[in-house]
Order: sequence, then C-alpha cells, then structure tokens
Amino acid sequence: MGNSKYLDGLSQDERNALVKQLWNIQNHKCFICGEEIDLDIQTTNIDHIKPLANGGKDEPVNFAITHEHCNKSKQDADLEVAKRLYALEKIINVAEQSHETPSLKHVLLANGGSKYLFKYKIEENQIVYSFDDNGDTVIRKSEVFTDVLSGEKTAFINVPLAYLYHDEVVNPRGINSSIRLLIKEFYKSNPQLHLSLARIEDEKIKIFDGQHKAVAQIVLGVKSIVVRLFINPDLDRLIETNTNAGSKLKQIAFDKAIVRQLHDTLYSERLRKYQQDHFLDEDDFSFSEQNLVDYFKGERGNIKLYIINSQKNAITRSPDNKLQSYINFEGRGNALPLSYSTFEKTFLAAFVNPKTILQTPINYRVDEGMNPRVLEKDQLIKLCNILAEEILIGKYDTEIGTYRIENNISDGRDSSITDDHLIAYRLCKEEIMYNWVQYLRLLIKNHFAFAGTMYNEDNLF
Ligand SMILES: [Zn+2]
Repeated sequence: MGNSKYLDGLSQDERNALVKQLWNIQNHKCFICGEEIDLDIQTTNIDHIKPLANGGKDEPVNFAITHEHCNKSKQDADLEVAKRLYALEKIINVAEQSHETPSLKHVLLANGGSKYLFKYKIEENQIVYSFDDNGDTVIRKSEVFTDVLSGEKTAFINVPLAYLYHDEVVNPRGINSSIRLLIKEFYKSNPQLHLSLARIEDEKIKIFDGQHKAVAQIVLGVKSIVVRLFINPDLDRLIETNTNAGSKLKQIAFDKAIVRQLHDTLYSERLRKYQQDHFLDEDDFSFSEQNLVDYFKGERGNIKLYIINSQKNAITRSPDNKLQSYINFEGRGNALPLSYSTFEKTFLAAFVNPKTILQTPINYRVDEGMNPRVLEKDQLIKLCNILAEEILIGKYDTEIGTYRIENNISDGRDSSITDDHLIAYRLCKEEIMYNWVQYLRLLIKNHFAFAGTMYNEDNLF
C-alpha cells in the first residue's frame, strides 16, 4: 500500500496483532478475491479500503487485509471497486474458457439472475404482475404507455435479477473493457441516466439494450433493475431501431471501431451542413474535401479525422470485405484472430494516408469509376480479400480461436491445432502483421515499377 503514518508507527508486535485482528474480522478471507488467507504460508498486505487520496481515513476501521498478489494486481485503488472488478474478471474468464463471449448473461447467472418466468396480465391500461416465485407476494401494477408514433406498448418496472435474462437475439454482442469505466462511474454515485430496455419473450424478461449499464449495476450489488419493458413488440422493428440508434444510446466509452462509425456520421453531418450553407442539393458533391476543411476552419483537425476515418470505416465495414468476419471489433472474446486495433495500426495505417485531403471534387470522375476515394476503397477491399483467402478462409478455425494457443503448443496440447490455424493466428498478431504489411507495400511498389505505372509513395492506391 501507499504510506500510512498509522502503520509506520506500529511496532512489529502491534502490526502482527492488527493483521490477526483484520484477518478475524474478514473471516480469514482476502478482501479482494474473497479466497482464504493462510497467514503461515501466504504473503499479505494491509491496505486502505478507501484510498487516502479519496478522503479515506488512516485508521484501522479503513484497513483491510489482502493477499499481496491480489493487492498488486488490483484494478482500482479503492478496494471496494477492486473487489467488484475482480469478481467480474472471474466471470469473464469462465465465459472465455468455454469459448463464449462474456455478456450480461454470464453476469446474471453468477448473481442469482435468470431463474424465473414472468407472470403477468394486462388489465385496461395496466400491467399486473407478481414476483411470487422470488418470495415477494405483492400484486403489482404499472401503467402501460402507448408510443404514439410506433404504437408500441411499454411499462416501467423494477425487475429483480431472478426475473432478468440477456437478449441474445436482439443484442448478440458481449461486454467490452469499457465496463470498468462505467462501474467506477456508478460507484462514484453518478446516476444511471438511461434505462435498460427489455422485452417479454417466452415469459422471460430479456434486456436487449443497455447491457453494460445493467452489468455495472449488478456488479455493484444492485438486486433489481428498473427497465422500460416492451410488451409484445414488433421484433424486426426493435432490431432495426437498436442497430440504427445503438451508438447514440450508449453511455459507455466507445471503442475504436465504434468511434470510426461515429465519425462517419459526423462526416455526413458536416457534408450536409456544407451543402445547406452553400444552397447545394443533397446529391450535389461538386466540392472537395479541402473545401470542407477550409470551410469548417475552427475544427480543421477534426474534419480531417472525420474524412479519413470515414474512408477507413467504408473499407473495413464493406459487406464485400471478406476479412471483416475475422476482425474482432469489441476487443473481447477469443474466437477471432485479428483485433480492430491491430488492423488499424498495421494495414490501414500503411495504406490509408491520414494526411491526404483531396483537392478534387468529392464526386470527381465518379461516373467513369475513377473517383480516387472509391478506387482506393475498392482496391483495398480487394487486397483484404486476397489476404483473407490466403491466410484465413478455410484455414483459421474460430472454434479453436486464440485462447492460450502458444501455451497449448508448448505444453503439447496441440493435437487439434492445425498448422494453417497457427500460421493464421501468428500472422494476425500486431508485431508480426506490422512487418509483413511493410513487405506487402514493397511488393506492390515493385509491381508498379515493373509494370511501368507511376505511383505515389504516400498513397499507393
Ligand atoms: Zn486474494
């Protein structure tokens, strides 16, 4: 731990007595991992539960005993938060070991959730329900609201975890590392602004939006969650709405790939604004990227970023891009070999020049198929497809995934791992990919040189 005047002032005997006392108070368990501490054979630390920096007191009442290992690897200075993050990490590891994407589902199951069916009836404009299986015999009623525009009916109800399920159909995504920030945010008592959304299916209440918020609340010990409950919603419409509005509804820190998509939207907004301010039609793109940068002078740097990111997004997310299904956009899970962050830092960095802002009109030679951005995009997608076909398709096995591959091989547990899979896995590692992408650049330049084609060092495509 940091400095404690209190502890420094203790004699060795007094300190041993304090260790013993804390150990007894904590039922011989470590404050962070909750596992037993054996004082004879394990190294321990005494630490402030609430850090001094956050106003914690330097007194025994604010002390806890932990395994030294747990204290050194803790994920937050506040031990209450560290304890919760440890518990979440454990749930995530268990899910990953069984090759599942960790999600609200696993957090619910580990916290007494997803046990009971929801019994309810609709009477006039009310939903009448009870959580009696959970030992709560009160008959509850909540008003049902009808959304004027869509006709969807919803109610706001407080649902015990035992009645909550994760909606794997509408929201197949897992939780990502931003969950830690959200947990810390909620722990500071910053309130939940948006409710999680849920629907009823097969008598189960399934959360389809706001799983990070739900997870953060559960991890912090909340036993029931207020949801906006859709009653018999139009499923297709929910999926569409959720996909469209997903990025706007999220309260979490965005991961890189999502920021890319967001910048795409921001770019389109600036395009539209430029058109409006210059009395141009919506389909009039007779102005250049440089015009945009000049027009939005105040946010020059941002506009450049929006333009480049929009291009990166168009390449990465194109339905024609076969590499896409091997890119892990969320940074969690072990099924896919290539993280978006690696793809961006190696491939995209080598081939999409962030400094290039075009002087030619945005619609320049579109009709002849010679528009520079379109050409760049099409050629890079073609290159992605070649890579996917050479390295990954039919070779990399998502069932085997990436988890502990090198360990399994060095431990001789490699009978299911094919050479193709191993090659694919290793070629997708950042430091390795960075190097062969540089060779790829050389190859392409050689090709141009032999073919007598002029090329620009900064923009090969
Ligand atoms: Zn421990």
